Amino acid sequence: MDKRLWQKTYAKLPSWVCPRCFKGRLKLRDKSMKFVEPDWVTTKLDENDLRGERSLGRFSAFLRCDEDECHEIVAVAGDYVSEYDPYFDTFTNSHDIKTTHELTVKGAIPMPPIIDVPALSADVVRNHIRAAESLFFVDSGACANKLRVASEALLDQLNVPLTGPNSKGKIVDYSLAQRIDALDKTLPGHKDILDALRLVGNAGSHEGDADFDFVTECFMLIEHVLAELIGQRHGTMDAVAKAIVAKRGKA
Ligand SMILES: [Zn+2]
Repeated sequence: MDKRLWQKTYAKLPSWVCPRCFKGRLKLRDKSMKFVEPDWVTTKLDENDLRGERSLGRFSAFLRCDEDECHEIVAVAGDYVSEYDPYFDTFTNSHDIKTTHELTVKGAIPMPPIIDVPALSADVVRNHIRAAESLFFVDSGACANKLRVASEALLDQLNVPLTGPNSKGKIVDYSLAQRIDALDKTLPGHKDILDALRLVGNAGSHEGDADFDFVTECFMLIEHVLAELIGQRHGTMDAVAKAIVAKRGKA
């Protein structure tokens, strides 16, 4: 995950990875960027003598994948704030205006991928992660909640048990925290990350909103844990499954 591509606001739209081919980069189509200032804003700016100095409203744009075989189109929309600063250009010897935009993306269709999902990931894990990504610009609380669900699906894929004995020896349904502990006993080293995802998901469930930076970091965490548990380390998943089966077999 390239964190620079995922910001609260942008001066210009970044070169996200294409959601169709996952190889190409998305580039702004010529003349597709539109800024529209609502009348009520124009009136307010006039009243405050700011017309020509700033503008705000809605923007829309089309991005195109730069991969020749693909050329997928992504529609993007959101809010903008623009500032216009007059300056004297000594090169052309004329007055000019420097325009700066602050773009807050509210949606991208189809949504570009935020993280790499390993090929060996279960479909249900991948689907929850892609669903979390589609909520990234829309609702950070719901997005965080989806990441928590994705981490639960990851535990399912790793065959971490859903039930186990409580302190009295009775078999009960495990909470997510208990399942994370169960994984940690057979395969240590991932508890902190999975706990972080569990907690950010809790924030999403209970508070309705999660801090944008917190959610961004959670995408980094789940990408890391996916790579560790089912991605680059070939054979790790088998080892996890074997260790759990061996442990359960003894119980
Ligand atoms: Zn593409």
